[in-house]
Amino acid sequence: MTENKKPLEGKVALVTGGSRSIGAAVAKRLATDGAAVAITYHGSPDKAAAVVEAIEAAGGRAVAIRADAGDAGAVRVAVNETAETLGTVDILVNNAGIALGGPIDEITDADYNRMIAVNVTGVFVATQEAVRKMKPGGRVIHIGSSMVRYAAFPTASLYTLTKGAVAGFNRSLVRDLGPRGITVNTVHPGPTDTDMNPDGGPVSKIVGPGMAIGRYGKPEEIASVVSYLASPEAAFVTGADIVADGGFTA
Ligand code: NDP
Repeated sequence: MTENKKPLEGKVALVTGGSRSIGAAVAKRLATDGAAVAITYHGSPDKAAAVVEAIEAAGGRAVAIRADAGDAGAVRVAVNETAETLGTVDILVNNAGIALGGPIDEITDADYNRMIAVNVTGVFVATQEAVRKMKPGGRVIHIGSSMVRYAAFPTASLYTLTKGAVAGFNRSLVRDLGPRGITVNTVHPGPTDTDMNPDGGPVSKIVGPGMAIGRYGKPEEIASVVSYLASPEAAFVTGADIVADGGFTA
C-alpha cells in the first residue's frame, strides 16, 4: 500500500500575523497540508504559542517569531530566521494587517503612517526578502480585501488604499517572478468572523444583509483558498485576485 503524501510535505511556509484569526487558521491549514510553518506575531505572544502548540500536537512543525509587520528591519530578520530555522521559505503568506481609519477629514498622520507601514511596507519587505531565497515552485500569497472591489461603507478609505496597493503589487510582481517559477496571488476575503471584524459586531450590522450566502465567512474558509494556491495544483494560477466573500461583492 502506498502512503498518501501530503501536498505540502517538505515545504516551508511563513505566515505573517499568524497568532490569531485568519492567519492562525492559515498556519494550521498549511501545517495540516504538510508544511513546516513559521508565524510572526506582534501583540499576542500567548496566542502565537498556542498556534505552535496546536500544530505540534497534530504532529507538525512550527515556530513563532515576534516581528512587528510595521518594522521593516524586524520583518527582514523574521524571514531570515525562518530560513535558518526551517531550512528555506517556499510559501509566504502576507496576512498581517490592521484597520485604522475614519472619515477622510479626521485621519491622522500617525494612523496613515502606521497603516502604510504595516499593510504596505510590511508586505513589500517580507516579499522582497522571501523571494531572494525562494526556489522554483515558490508561492507568494497576499491577503487583500473585498473592499478593493466594493466599498460597502464609509470610513474605510485608508484601509482600502493599502489593500489596493497590495493588489497592484500582486499583479506586477507576477512578471518578475513568473520566469523563476514562483506564483503570486491575492486572496480577497469578504466579511470574515475574526477579532478584527466579529460576526455580530458594528461592521456586521452594515454588511450582514449583503452576504449572498446569508452569513459571515469563517477563517478556515479563507485558509482553504490559501491552501489551494499554495499547492502544486495551482502551478498555473498566478496574478489572480481570488475573492472569497460569500457573494458579498457579486
Ligand atoms: P485580526 O485583527 O483578527 O488578526 C490580525 C492578525 O495579524 C493577528 O494575528 C495579529 O497578531 C497580526 N498582526 C496585526 N498587526 C501586526 C503587526 N504589526 N505585526 C505582526 N502581526 C500583526 O485580523 P483578521 O484575521 O480579520 O485579518 C487578517 C487579514 O485579513 C488582514 O490583512 C485583514 O486586513 C484581512 N481581511 C480581513 C477581513 C475580515 O472581515 N476579517 C476582510 C478582508 C480582509 P498580534 O495580535 O500578535 O499582533
